[in-house]
Amino acid sequence: MRFIDREEVARRLTYELCIPIVREAMIAFSRGETRQPLREIVPLADGRLFGVMPGAMSGRGVFGAKLISVFPDNFAKGVQSHQGLVILFDPASGAPVCVVHAGEVTAIRTAAASAVATDALARREASRLAILGYGEQAATHARALKQVRPLEAITVWGRSAERAAAFAVKMTTELGLPVSAAPDVETAVAGADIICTVTGAAEPILMGRWVAPGTHVNLVGSSFAGPAEADNDLVARSRFIADSRAGVLAQGAEFLRAKAAGLVGDDHIVGEIGEVLAGTVAGRRSAEEITVYKSLGHVAQDLASAWALYNS
Ligand code: NDP
Repeated sequence: MRFIDREEVARRLTYELCIPIVREAMIAFSRGETRQPLREIVPLADGRLFGVMPGAMSGRGVFGAKLISVFPDNFAKGVQSHQGLVILFDPASGAPVCVVHAGEVTAIRTAAASAVATDALARREASRLAILGYGEQAATHARALKQVRPLEAITVWGRSAERAAAFAVKMTTELGLPVSAAPDVETAVAGADIICTVTGAAEPILMGRWVAPGTHVNLVGSSFAGPAEADNDLVARSRFIADSRAGVLAQGAEFLRAKAAGLVGDDHIVGEIGEVLAGTVAGRRSAEEITVYKSLGHVAQDLASAWALYNS
């Protein structure tokens, strides 16, 4: 059995490779060509989680699972907060054939999925990106979104001004464009064309009243029906696109809070990103619309990315 370690994933799963793979995976997912139950989340002590995500790709394709621990307190120790394995099975023989470092796949495929959504939903000329959070997903989102829009500037916000400043310096050097730290969320998102929320915030940090018409927002940090990064106002004011309708109806915290408040119904989810990509649901309809992509993360993205590494 082959093992693909973190270094190999980081080196070979480039955004040029991963973005089109995730795009195709999400189209197949929305067409019902992939099969997967809702993600199981096993709560552990101290706010830690264990995620179990089985699935099968299109047709008689590869199947497997992602097993992933989420230890949010690892961030302060400089260790990945998401760690685990993606396990691939050969569709012809039924044998397990490959184990892939899931922390690195998750870091890259999640950002690639947001890049796909941004490419489909943000205004063509969108060039100013605001990132809330300065962890692993913040870095991968900056790298991935640069592939799909001509970014001119990035603003970052996080709870520690020092860490936000350090992230800004590091990413300025790496990306070759100005990345600056903002003192608060409202300042960070003022003038942004694209906003990514990639934090472990339990309660909303992003208020709809701060989001200008025409903005595209990727809500990524909350992946179960508990913590929410954006308020009900943003949900209600937006054209709301899910990665998975069933997923968001069960686990999309921002949507579920707005629904519980009586502000939106299930029909507020206008479609899945795979439907927008396939052209069966309209994406952005005007330059003034606020679009939201709610990301929960799906094993179809992990299996497709891992298979591409194994099979080439
Ligand atoms: P990291 O642990 O690397 O970074 C976490 C970030 O969240 C840090 O910037 C941290 O900074 C910040 N943070 C934690 N608590 C709060 C809070 N209460 N308010 C504001 N900021 C906070 O995690 P990742 O970058 O890997 O992941 C970011 C989020 O995205 C996580 O919640 C993760 O579960 C989620 N995720 C979602 C995926 C999806 O598919 N949708 C896939 C992978 C991750 P500080 O503590 O200094 O404030």
